[in-house]
Amino acid sequence: MDCIFCKIIAREITSDVVYEDDEVVAFLDIAPINPGHTLVVPKLHVKDLLAAPVEVAAKVLTAAQRIAPVLLQVVGAPAFNCSINNGAASGQVVMHLHVHIIPRHLSDRLVSWQHGKYGSGEAAALAQRIVAAMPKF
Ligand code: AMP
Ligand code: ZN
Repeated sequence: MDCIFCKIIAREITSDVVYEDDEVVAFLDIAPINPGHTLVVPKLHVKDLLAAPVEVAAKVLTAAQRIAPVLLQVVGAPAFNCSINNGAASGQVVMHLHVHIIPRHLSDRLVSWQHGKYGSGEAAALAQRIVAAMPKF
């Protein structure tokens, strides 16, 4: 399969691996937003969070939860962003599920999100439609 992360997992291309177990690999992002920016990926090729079996998603998130404090300690960061892009319109470029762990510093001045505003009654109406569409999990 022509997937760059599968090739990293198979060691067909090199990367700076920082963690590995039976189901998960974590390696440094080649183009870091901040030093220590790490990608946590399942060994199973799934394209995004929605395609992942729940056990796989849980393993990846559990690994991210364990890896993040170590990264923060090593790079001396007090905080981090943890994000998953799902689909090209969200900014996903590599179509193999990955969790970004991005160490953050008060001084780094990165803008993560730009918030908008709902018009009057708009949020309530939208929430109602979402509740109506929500299945029983
Ligand atoms: P996304 O935009 O969420 O799909 O993120 C893909 C990430 O993969 C980007 O932050 C890239 O810098 C990173 N990336 C692409 N190729 C490599 C590679 N060979 N080794 C490490 N990180 C990579
Ligand atoms: Zn893959």
